[in-house]
Amino acid sequence: MIYGLLGKSLAHSVSPEIHKAFGNDCYKLYPTDNPGQFLKNKAFSGLNVTIPYKETVLPYLDQLDPIANRSHSVNTIVKKDNKLHGYNTDYDGLSMLVDHHKIDIRGKHILIVGNGGAANTVSCFLEDRKAQKVTKICRKPRNDSELTFSEIDKVKDCEIIINTTPVGMYPDNESDWLFDLGEFTNVTHAIDLIYNPLRTNFLLDAKTRGIKTINGLFMLVAQAARAHELFFETSVPMDRIQAVYSETLRQMTNIIFIGLPSSGKSLYARLLHDKYGLQIMDTDRIIEQMTGMTIPEIFDSQGEKHFRDQEFLLARTISKTHYQVISTGGGMVTNPALMRLFQHNGYIIFLDKDPAEILKYPVRNRPLIKKPEDLYRLASQRRPLYEKYADMIFKITKDAKLHFPEIERLINEHFDNQRAES
Ligand code: NAP
Repeated sequence: MIYGLLGKSLAHSVSPEIHKAFGNDCYKLYPTDNPGQFLKNKAFSGLNVTIPYKETVLPYLDQLDPIANRSHSVNTIVKKDNKLHGYNTDYDGLSMLVDHHKIDIRGKHILIVGNGGAANTVSCFLEDRKAQKVTKICRKPRNDSELTFSEIDKVKDCEIIINTTPVGMYPDNESDWLFDLGEFTNVTHAIDLIYNPLRTNFLLDAKTRGIKTINGLFMLVAQAARAHELFFETSVPMDRIQAVYSETLRQMTNIIFIGLPSSGKSLYARLLHDKYGLQIMDTDRIIEQMTGMTIPEIFDSQGEKHFRDQEFLLARTISKTHYQVISTGGGMVTNPALMRLFQHNGYIIFLDKDPAEILKYPVRNRPLIKKPEDLYRLASQRRPLYEKYADMIFKITKDAKLHFPEIERLINEHFDNQRAES
């Protein structure tokens, strides 16, 4: 029995893990430059298809499901009686995502960014859900109803924006979003079909404007569940989809501790590593290892700016990884570009410890803290920043170790409850 994913470059796909979680141990990656030959051989039972072949595969199929036919996009192929049947389970994945978030599409003006294969699927779905108006904005319009980015003013009254372009997708996480969201005052939801990183710059821009943000991970898991149903003529209950989503989200998230020196960042990182196997990244220790100097020595010999540059370069690498626990240097929060990198895959926890508590023990090896007043000054400068970037604020009131069960519970609750949210 051969099942798997057909596409061009699949190195970072999480589909095998997702299908395994639904019970398919035979699911493999099939990267190819020649999808036609692969399909002609018919040496498989079921396939998923991804970029750039969702339309390429159409001529090789014997039968198309009505949605695949309408959207000209096939992401699931099932072989039955030696005939190839094509389906579009992205449509089902999107439908489950929208229902999960209880987003009412009916009567809404919705902006689709991009006009490729996924945009076709999204527009079929929005039509079926009776959106009042759907506009596509793109680089190369294919008909009069599609707008170019220079015509953005015409759609500023839209209520939901759905990104179907790869702008901001791994490995180009740092790509700027395509347009300023400042004047889109009616927008309630920003949906990005991208799921790696978990929070693209599009979603982060939207979040800072108070817009509800949703990434594509739940859609990915839900479309895989529907494909699994078609492969095995079975049904996958919604609570199973949600459980697989939670676990996939956990595996893709970095837990990032921010806060003043000696607030417990390294301790909690080690405890999470010991219990859950997340890889530890202690940014100060890594920079010391990389440079062969202590942090006070770096400050003395090369200055604070050099140290901050090293922090930024390290954050750039770490931010593209998954399932790490990161203990950050206390001053990283002062660099907005660096914190944005951390936000891409990070769940950021501010360990809020009172400076008076910190000063009960000697504070060593900190070039910016030479006397107690220095810590109070840093605390008042940085507190608003810690609060700004935190996804969770955790007050440390007792021996840090005693708080661990509570922190662990809240982190687990985040993955269990947050479900489809980004
Ligand atoms: P596609 O057919 O290649 O279409 C990509 C679209 O993005 C095209 O309109 C393309 O415009 C546009 N685009 C690419 N780069 C751009 C840029 N720098 N600026 C502006 N527009 C740009 O790809 P697709 O199959 O629709 O997939 C698109 C995205 O959706 C991918 O990120 C994919 O991972 C995601 N997706 C996610 C799920 C999920 O389950 N979460 C499912 C399906 C797709 P041009 O024609 O001008 O290049």
